[in-house]
Amino acid sequence: MECDVAVLGGGPGGYTAAIRAAQLGAKTVCIEKEPELGGTCLRIGCIPTKAWVQTAFFLKEAEESFSKLGIQIGEPTLDFATANEWKAAVVKQMTQGVAGLFKANGVE
Ligand SMILES: Cc1cc2nc3c(=O)[nH]c(=O)nc-3n(C[C@H](O)[C@H](O)[C@H](O)COP(=O)(O)OP(=O)(O)OC[C@H]3O[C@@H](n4cnc5c(N)ncnc54)[C@H](O)[C@@H]3O)c2cc1C
Repeated sequence: MECDVAVLGGGPGGYTAAIRAAQLGAKTVCIEKEPELGGTCLRIGCIPTKAWVQTAFFLKEAEESFSKLGIQIGEPTLDFATANEWKAAVVKQMTQGVAGLFKANGVE
């Protein structure tokens, strides 16, 4: 395959570089060893941890704040499988967003 720019790694450093190179007119490929784009940040770092933080925040609110506002919901419990599904959906939305940006900008 012939190209002007080859970017190694589809994390935040790589995908932004690849998109910018393509926008500037270079025939650009991005080489990523994982099945999804997005790197540490989108797949296993920033995004999933913030999804977990949101779950923990709501759980704490349910435990500590709801009753003060007159909301009675009983003892809140965490269904880990459902929480994990939600986290995975957030990650998928983000990694597919990068794939969409590649397509829109002509990065292979
Ligand atoms: C738990 C956690 C939470 C974080 N939270 C935040 C946060 O809230 N805010 C923030 O700014 N940063 C956060 N970070 C840091 C952030 O994830 C990194 O700064 C960012 O991902 C670095 O981007 P990068 O593109 O340099 O590297 P990476 O995201 O690591 O991407 C490198 C990519 O290259 C690929 N690759 C490596 N070798 C090869 C190869 N030989 N061939 C093909 N592909 C290859 C890898 O698979 C990977 O996809 C967090 C990190 C972790 C671990």
